[in-house]
Amino acid sequence: MKHHDAMFIDGTWRPAAGAGTIEVVNPADERVIATVPAGTAEDVDAAVRAARAALPGWAATAPAERAARLTELRDQLAARTEEIARTITAELGTTLGFSRRVQAALPVVVTGSYAELAASYPFEERIGNSTVFHEPVGVVAAITPWNYPLHQVVNKVAPALAAGCTVVLKPAEDTPLTAQLFAECVAAAGVPAGVFNLVTGLGHVAGQALAEHPDVDLVSFTGSTAVGRKIGAIAGGDVKRVALELGGKSANVILPGADLDKAVQVNIADVMRNSGQSCNALTRMLVHADQYEEAVALAAQGVSGYVVGDPEDDASRLGPVVNARQRDRVRGYIERGVQEGARLVAGGPDAPEGLQRGYFVRPTVFADVTTDMAIAQEEIFGPVLSILKYESEEEALRIANDSAYGLGGAVWAGDKETAVAFARRLDTGQVDINGGRFNPLAPFGGYKQSGVGRELGPHGLAEYLQTKSLQF
Ligand code: NAD
Repeated sequence: MKHHDAMFIDGTWRPAAGAGTIEVVNPADERVIATVPAGTAEDVDAAVRAARAALPGWAATAPAERAARLTELRDQLAARTEEIARTITAELGTTLGFSRRVQAALPVVVTGSYAELAASYPFEERIGNSTVFHEPVGVVAAITPWNYPLHQVVNKVAPALAAGCTVVLKPAEDTPLTAQLFAECVAAAGVPAGVFNLVTGLGHVAGQALAEHPDVDLVSFTGSTAVGRKIGAIAGGDVKRVALELGGKSANVILPGADLDKAVQVNIADVMRNSGQSCNALTRMLVHADQYEEAVALAAQGVSGYVVGDPEDDASRLGPVVNARQRDRVRGYIERGVQEGARLVAGGPDAPEGLQRGYFVRPTVFADVTTDMAIAQEEIFGPVLSILKYESEEEALRIANDSAYGLGGAVWAGDKETAVAFARRLDTGQVDINGGRFNPLAPFGGYKQSGVGRELGPHGLAEYLQTKSLQF
């Protein structure tokens, strides 16, 4: 597979300081498809220096020029959609159709939105006798996960560049090839040297060195809550700005009067998307006791249509999960659900038939799940749905909010007003009403342990700005 044996620092591909490498594995067949350099603190330091040196020039660039570079970047990404989609499928394992439709396509939309925002954002405003300037925070450390290898990168880099910040990206070790393609696109878009830098490497080595670097002004991290805590502690110690997009255990609340069949089918599609590896996946479905068995039957039947297999085969609706560790973790949770007394109505912990090679997991549905079970509380990050029963709206609310997380959510009701009233009482960052579609401009981020800060749209841009007021 196409790759660079180098880091992208100060506008050029240059060899890493050390000799360590990371193997990139195709999760569908377990073959090594490339190796990339494992960066060290030395590489991180070189990248941060380049970003610092480029900062004054880029921060002073007119917003219209930053917008022009982002428009060019959008066009570069759009022109290479097929190559990007194939690379994402090769290193992540998600189906090629999903890679084309979402993984590679959404970043084009998001980059375009930041091209527009760079040109239109009120970087200067009058408040009483003051002029308030919204200025770039400075050098940004972007640390990203593997589940949406380009989207997670663009969610940070595009608003940072729009704001006038410079960036050092440390992508997930499972999906560095997509990040390398992104670096090529940034270079081709005419973004000046040093404004964007890429260091591939291990989290506890390159990632940690980047978060700890004294010349980094803001750390924007997406990943697990466990690592997010460490990053938050580092940033707190250094009084650095920090943005954390962490895990979730989002609830889909189906109220009486809702279109049950549609609500269940949408929930299944949501939870199986990307082999269950979405932080905002609706992993808990809450159904009223009167409709419970009907919903369980609909879910079991719906899941039976989800074919697992080769992600490049159009017939497959689910590919493998990203790596062996995730496969074992997800299967472990399925075993735990059974041990805890949940009722397995579809799937199970064994490998799908005929798929011994590759990190495949069967799409799984549990009924009779109660809030005390691990499968109701912990993020599984795999194709596993837990169905819980409630007797009253108040109980549904209690169950939905009984989580350390608060990232996504959904409410279905017979009318919009009922759903909205319920959604306002959910402790979560975003809620889809009666199947409301994803909005790439709406603020995305969590309540509670799902994180700090917001991504996407103008709220995402504001994360990369600091304010200065001048009084007259
Ligand atoms: P992870 O936390 O292990 O890794 C995320 C990134 O952090 C990777 O680039 C990794 O190399 C780096 N990292 C690891 N240890 C580090 C350290 N000590 N210092 C600095 N960097 C370090 O998470 P993952 O396994 O890549 O992703 C799965 C998790 O991410 C899930 O829990 C999921 O919910 C969460 N996630 C959240 C969102 C969101 O927007 N809220 C999006 C995607 C994934």
